[in-house]
Amino acid sequence: MIDERVEPFYDEVARRNPGEVEFHQAVREVLESLGPVLAKYPEFARHKIIERICEPERQVIFRVPWRDDRGEVQINRGFRVEFNSALGPYKGGLRFHPSVYLGTVKFLGFEQVFKNALTGMPIGGAKGGADFDPKGRSDTEVMAFCQSFMTELFRHLGEYTDVPAGDAGVGVRESGYLFGQYKRVTNRYESGVLTGKGTDWGGALVRTEATGYGTAFFANEMLKAQGRSLDGMTCVVSGSGNVALYAIEKVHHLGGRVIACSDSGGVVVDEKGVDVSLLTQVKEVERGRLRDYAERRPGVRHLEGGNVWDVPCDIALPCATQNELTGRDARALVAGGCTLVAEGANMPTTPDGIRLLREAGVAFAPGKAANAGGVATSALEMQQNASRDSWTFDYTEERLADIMAGIHALCYETAEEFGVPSDYVMGANIAGFLRVGRAMVALGLV
Ligand code: GLU
Repeated sequence: MIDERVEPFYDEVARRNPGEVEFHQAVREVLESLGPVLAKYPEFARHKIIERICEPERQVIFRVPWRDDRGEVQINRGFRVEFNSALGPYKGGLRFHPSVYLGTVKFLGFEQVFKNALTGMPIGGAKGGADFDPKGRSDTEVMAFCQSFMTELFRHLGEYTDVPAGDAGVGVRESGYLFGQYKRVTNRYESGVLTGKGTDWGGALVRTEATGYGTAFFANEMLKAQGRSLDGMTCVVSGSGNVALYAIEKVHHLGGRVIACSDSGGVVVDEKGVDVSLLTQVKEVERGRLRDYAERRPGVRHLEGGNVWDVPCDIALPCATQNELTGRDARALVAGGCTLVAEGANMPTTPDGIRLLREAGVAFAPGKAANAGGVATSALEMQQNASRDSWTFDYTEERLADIMAGIHALCYETAEEFGVPSDYVMGANIAGFLRVGRAMVALGLV
């Protein structure tokens, strides 16, 4: 339930941003946690921090014209929403997907503000992207699109201004084309302007793995707080992209077994534990489908159009996309024995889903805490670029594990302090809000 102290703020956001339903949802989830904060710290109301935090500092929308392989002109729409820079330069990924519109970018940017604050690193929040679909496009087409996109976006970026990275549809290939064009039009080899770079040209080790690894580390921290661990647990992971892939790998390192994952075509159930190197080969190298994975691995079932949440498990890690785990799915998970959900994607659980999981006593960690390892490692990449240094894999992974343990402790302790023990939603929202809100008060009316 939304507190009467914050209800008017939510109504105003919905009125001022018509039709942006995912943005409304993300704002509502945060505001639902803030009643007790306003009661304890009246200065946030006096400085109108809630109204200000819900309004992006800057929003850029631009035309992206490019030519496809048949010589035909294509037009896409590009976005960058620079949401909040109280803690550092704007930071957040770019998503290329046909469904992207302003509401997607604003919900992701809003989430990013709190997520980045939770990492404790000096990064503000932003998000961007385009309604471009890289699926089925050739390398030349992807390059043409990326070059046109950056030819407009570069003027808004800078290592002290705004630092994009990848998100769905933007991996190391796209990042290369984007960075190459930035370098060309600015005549600067400004490594720190983009993260998730290839490791041959300024990228940090572990950045590729970081979001998925971080989610597994976070789930393990939650289990540790209950006196358990991932060791011996069965897990189900949705998706089979970058986040899912490395979440699966780290769950296996930590002793768990991932028995199912999914893509838009269906689900594979692999009781022996998903083979990460085969999955990487099929999905990342060949850009193929899970069906191909199942064909090459004996004993694996492929459920065409199946629902991954119907597979009984101890732990569920939604790592695909927003609103992929509904109330119906939450019920299926509870019925299948699931006791913990940690979000690897951004806002993958619907409000109904979250409510049902919490009512059933399932430990639930929101994405802004559980998937913060990606952006935290981006901040480590910025550190390495700024000092013209590069760290080893092991050292960087250790830093990531420490950061995830730190985020867990912060959320856990904040929930205790506010009288809602083990409520990671409240803990994450309140702790993130306090960090950004305090900085905003200190910086004055800007
Ligand atoms: N897109 C990722 C996220 O959702 C990473 C952003 C970044 O590294 O800047 O947090």
